[in-house]
Amino acid sequence: MDQVNFRGVKVAKIKSVKFQKKEYSYWKPFHITGSVSSTSTNIEISVDTEEGLVGLAEASPSFRVSGEKVDALLAMESFVDEMIGGMDTNKYRLIFDVTDKLLASPSIKCGVQFAVLSIFCEEHGMKVNEFFGGARDFIETDKTVGIDSIQNRVMEAENIFRSGFKQIKIKVGENLFDDINAVMKIAERTKGASYIVDANMGYTPKMALEFVNQLYRAGIDVAIFEQPVFSQDFEGLKFVRFHSPFPVAADESARTKYDVYRLIKNEAVDYINIKLMKSGISDALAIIEMARSSGVKLMIGCMGESSLGISQSILFALGVGCFDYHDLDSHLIIREDSFRGKFTQDGPIIRAI
Ligand SMILES: [Mg+2]
Repeated sequence: MDQVNFRGVKVAKIKSVKFQKKEYSYWKPFHITGSVSSTSTNIEISVDTEEGLVGLAEASPSFRVSGEKVDALLAMESFVDEMIGGMDTNKYRLIFDVTDKLLASPSIKCGVQFAVLSIFCEEHGMKVNEFFGGARDFIETDKTVGIDSIQNRVMEAENIFRSGFKQIKIKVGENLFDDINAVMKIAERTKGASYIVDANMGYTPKMALEFVNQLYRAGIDVAIFEQPVFSQDFEGLKFVRFHSPFPVAADESARTKYDVYRLIKNEAVDYINIKLMKSGISDALAIIEMARSSGVKLMIGCMGESSLGISQSILFALGVGCFDYHDLDSHLIIREDSFRGKFTQDGPIIRAI
């Protein structure tokens, strides 16, 4: 017998949580500071309710950023099932509070929270982007150039620019001299584009300043200089921020709302790069409010999500509408048998279906 609340909405009681490992290969190896990967191993999370509703989501863990290992996460299936089993998805805040305790497995927290919200939205007849606020009709994403020879980096940036992307993300951080040359040559060949340059913690504060100063003197404008130094070096980050002519963003330094609170308190950055896989939905929402109340700006990024997982960040970004830059391109480098995103994409422009 269905239980209903005072508005006639059915109780959606969680019956089971299931994890499934999914391995994807990349079209070509993706090289960033300290890591080259040619596959992405994700976990599909399905949450079922007694009433027959199903929420499907994806966790895309990162050992490099969050210390997560896929096999260890898979072993948590029954634990997570016990953790939220029997809870009502209409009271999703309570499920957020419980899953906020998954501090060492933020991608699982993200997937579970998203699956629960999908059920909530289905139950209430709305789209997930509408649930988050329905702020935007479309977003524009960048596309990323990985670390490679200078020649290949320039070629790839030109291809990206020619295929309609106006925002190009450039990975740097392994070789200061090559990085400066690569960005200078890319800027020469893609006039009119804007650049997010991401060092993925590869520089010391001094190297980071050498990098930005040389670009600045060459007349190149960098929209965002992302994570120049080691994640835990908040002082280094602040030093770069106050001496760089370009805005500085925290990515690896900004995983939870607690990190962001400390970053803001230390005046360490101009931008926070929110990734749902680092923070889950609950902390991402908290980070947005902290950033808004302190004048810090926001961008949104991704890990190795397939079309299923990137859809989560896309619907979130469309709904909250607070990001200056969208770096949501992981699905573009992954081979997939079928497209499962709840969005359409025309070059850099993405809309919800
Ligand atoms: Mg980054």
